[in-house]
Amino acid sequence: MSLAHGHPYLAIPGPSVIPDRVQRAMHRGSPNIYEGPLVEMVTGLFPDLRIIAGTTGHVAIYVGNGHAGWEAANANLFSRGEKALVLAVGQFGLSWANAARNMGIEVEVLDFGKSSPPDLGRVEAALRADTANRIKAVLTTHVDTASTIKTDIPALRAAMDATGHPALLAVDCIASLGCDEFRMDDWGVDVMVAACQKGLMTPPGMAFVWFSEAARLRCGRSDLATPYWAWGPRAEPEEFWQIWDGTAPTSHLYGLREALDMLREEGLPNVWRRHRVLAGSVWAAFDAWSAGNPQIAMNVADPAHRGTSVTAARFGAPHATRLREWCETKAGVTLGIGLGMAPSTDPAYHGFLRVAHMGHVNAHMTLGALAVMEAGMTALQIPHGPGALDAAARVVAEGAG
Ligand SMILES: *Cc1c(COP(=O)(O)O)cnc(C)c1O
Repeated sequence: MSLAHGHPYLAIPGPSVIPDRVQRAMHRGSPNIYEGPLVEMVTGLFPDLRIIAGTTGHVAIYVGNGHAGWEAANANLFSRGEKALVLAVGQFGLSWANAARNMGIEVEVLDFGKSSPPDLGRVEAALRADTANRIKAVLTTHVDTASTIKTDIPALRAAMDATGHPALLAVDCIASLGCDEFRMDDWGVDVMVAACQKGLMTPPGMAFVWFSEAARLRCGRSDLATPYWAWGPRAEPEEFWQIWDGTAPTSHLYGLREALDMLREEGLPNVWRRHRVLAGSVWAAFDAWSAGNPQIAMNVADPAHRGTSVTAARFGAPHATRLREWCETKAGVTLGIGLGMAPSTDPAYHGFLRVAHMGHVNAHMTLGALAVMEAGMTALQIPHGPGALDAAARVVAEGAG
């Protein structure tokens, strides 16, 4: 029989859980897009979008997903034939590099594999070797959602500064904004990309590009910035429609307004702390499971290099796929597939999964997901060490103070 009837939990990691408040805010008829409450409400979104990114810079909003955010950043950062240095620590860095290459940008990828952070010595060496300053920008993920590696952005900025190279720094925070601490201005980030469906708790459909004044000045003449993608009019519109280059995504904007209110009510430092504690409970559970079965392991060995919104792990094929299927059909918890770890046609693919703890999640959701995983391992006779749920509960007890 199935015990899945009840509130399902999608922990895949994105799209993330949409809060009831956000759903209710979106459920409305079409507002006037020329004047009145919508136009006034949108004026108030911009300061809050700056606060959440930690910047006093500019922000452009696009109707689109994360890939649209990448394309927007690429289009404004580069002219055809200009060069990007991309730091890849998993599938998402590689995909951003591909997007740039397919737009006619010259791309040099530094690939650090799938379970290590960037080697900053190699980054410095690549910049120092570029004596003609052909590299216009360094592109990197803050948290690569596939590997769940978190890159130390202040350390990367310091390494770039040490070389004296003028390249701009552009960071993909799609999986981390509203989850992991991020401070665009303090950390010297020039361009930052996010989308609304992960830590921002709104259904997929909006992408954001924040950019510093320095980036605006350096990128004013990019020949890839076609009318839809050019960030200038969106960030400094003379008329309301220019923010979207057309019709506003009306329901999404009301959803985003509510989500930003929720983040403000909780307080960003508390939001980051909640993610740290919940991530810690997941990691404690995995440490206990792994102790009884070396085939079970988190993808990132050092907690210092793990993002706090999602945890990638291996269970040994085919157990990850069996466990995901059990959790979804028997218990109503949908875990994420392993992404970019092995091709979906390779039997090894069935050894990887991801547990999301991103956005609108609390202790009972994360502890519930862990308990369901434990039940699934027991039911499927996947060997695992004892004490995982005790360990996870202890982390929550300590974290809640
Ligand atoms: C989800 C994600 C993307 C891609 O976003 P889409 O909305 O699927 O286009 C890119 N980068 C990171 C780090 C992500 O987590």
